[in-house]
Amino acid sequence: MFDVSNQPPPLEPYNLFTSDVVLRESVKRERAGWAEEGLSTLGATFGKPETVKAGFDANRYPPVLRTLDRYGHRLDEVEFHPAWHEIMAIALRAGLHSSPWAEPKPGAHVARAAGTYMLEQVESGAYCPIAMTYGSVPTLRHAPEIAKEWLPRICAREYDPRFIPAHEKKSALVGMGMTENQGGTDLRTNTTRAEPAGDGSFRLYGHKWFMSAPMCDAFLVLAQSAKGLSCFFMPRWTPDGERNAVHILRLKDKLGNKSNASSEVEFDGAYAQLVGEEGRGIPTIIEMGNYTRLDCAIGSSGLMRQALAQGLHHARHRTVFQKKLIDQPLMENVLADLALESEAATALTFRLARAYDEDDEAAQVIRRVVTPAAKFWICKRTPAATYEAMEVLGGSGYIEESIMPRLYREAPVNSIWEGSGNVMCLDVLRAIGRTPGAAEVLRKELDTGDKRLNTFTERLQKRLQASERNDESQARALTRDLVLGLQAALLIRHAPAPVADAFCAARLNGDSAAFGLLPRGLDLRAIVERAAPQS
Ligand SMILES: Cc1cc2nc3c(=O)[nH]c(=O)nc-3n(C[C@H](O)[C@H](O)[C@H](O)COP(=O)(O)OP(=O)(O)OC[C@H]3O[C@@H](n4cnc5c(N)ncnc54)[C@H](O)[C@@H]3O)c2cc1C
Repeated sequence: MFDVSNQPPPLEPYNLFTSDVVLRESVKRERAGWAEEGLSTLGATFGKPETVKAGFDANRYPPVLRTLDRYGHRLDEVEFHPAWHEIMAIALRAGLHSSPWAEPKPGAHVARAAGTYMLEQVESGAYCPIAMTYGSVPTLRHAPEIAKEWLPRICAREYDPRFIPAHEKKSALVGMGMTENQGGTDLRTNTTRAEPAGDGSFRLYGHKWFMSAPMCDAFLVLAQSAKGLSCFFMPRWTPDGERNAVHILRLKDKLGNKSNASSEVEFDGAYAQLVGEEGRGIPTIIEMGNYTRLDCAIGSSGLMRQALAQGLHHARHRTVFQKKLIDQPLMENVLADLALESEAATALTFRLARAYDEDDEAAQVIRRVVTPAAKFWICKRTPAATYEAMEVLGGSGYIEESIMPRLYREAPVNSIWEGSGNVMCLDVLRAIGRTPGAAEVLRKELDTGDKRLNTFTERLQKRLQASERNDESQARALTRDLVLGLQAALLIRHAPAPVADAFCAARLNGDSAAFGLLPRGLDLRAIVERAAPQS
């Protein structure tokens, strides 16, 4: 047997919170310093070898649909590997599905964002029901009676995977069903019908082409009623204790996100209750969409961080041509560039999360305009970043036993679901035009007085004028520049000079078609050292 040498040790156990300087600084800066102790405990839990293994197992043994029992009775159940339940239990115990609603306080959304940022790094599939449950609460509040009954369950922290009526359970999870076969983005084409049952409830008939996490206890669903497209609350069990008529037709065979079940479903007279005003379904459910879009930005930032952490760890331990990889000048350039991307994404994500903790005009503008912008650009950069980090590991990065293929396969999903790239950019145009005070709030966020950003900002301000802004064909360019400007402003204000200098040099004027193109004269060593997982 050959000797094993020049192979890095696994990056475990490690603490995903305390080892991540950028995350720790972001949490403190965005007013969730009080959560550090809890986040540190959670970071240690996520970094334990057992948890890391559970992340792998949940993906290696994907969920299985059980449509019928042995006699032919409908079951419509999905079975998960125990590892999935283990990860879900950790996430619920930490309150990642609901803590800002259960215990609202300054920094609550930021603290929760830090927890989900770490969850995504170990197991991304579980993030889906966690994000949807979190996002469902503002929409549910449009139906006070339902909220009164369900919020205590949604806020409970004891994960309960049993498929039984919710009132018998210790906690409950909520998903959503909007996308239909004939069109997802254009929700007005939804054909699912809602018919009044005569007792105040409705019966739903139709289908959903995507409905993820079908083992959630209830769903927010769009359907056409007499007054137009409306939002409904559809539990998996009826109030009479019967299985609701939600038939799971099949599970999607997805590129990634393997641990999570995403289903196609048919409603055959499914019991549901109206949420919000009849005919105002889209604005009602879109409130949920804002939170899940925030979660797409958090999740993708987390994916980038994990890819970078693995790449840096490998490069610190692997020797090529008599030097550690991390000391090879060209690899240092690649790693520093990845670190810039990761830090910029994290800084913007946590700034955005703070806007969900506040309610002044600035917070409202940031929530409305920057949520779709951040979702677009951060999610768009993630596949490139995870791929580049995979290459740092060489051939081993392409092998399933490293986490890199999983991160890479997961990377596109946050860009596609909850409004794909173009849709986010068109939403940015709309939001800038319609949100009072948007131009002034954005100007202040971008105004650092730093010369390097001034020229860029002047160009951006021109783009933000109505004449240019209304050109849909330029919506991606405008959104990219808005995000790069905001990221640069955050890094100039808060990051060490080597990071801000390099970001301005590389992203405000540079070529970011590939990583590792940073120009000469930057302190790459300082950037890499800051990003490397600290013990
Ligand atoms: C893993 C996964 C899980 C999902 N889970 C759920 C779920 O739980 N619930 C749910 O409701 N949905 C879910 N979805 C569906 C997802 O939200 C939709 O696929 C997405 O919103 C896009 O809708 P669509 O597939 O109908 O594409 P389309 O609406 O046909 O869009 C196709 C492309 O056209 C672009 N486009 C659309 N309009 C314009 C325009 N005006 N100008 C330029 N370009 C445009 C879009 O950006 C997109 O790139 C899930 C999807 C995936 C992949």
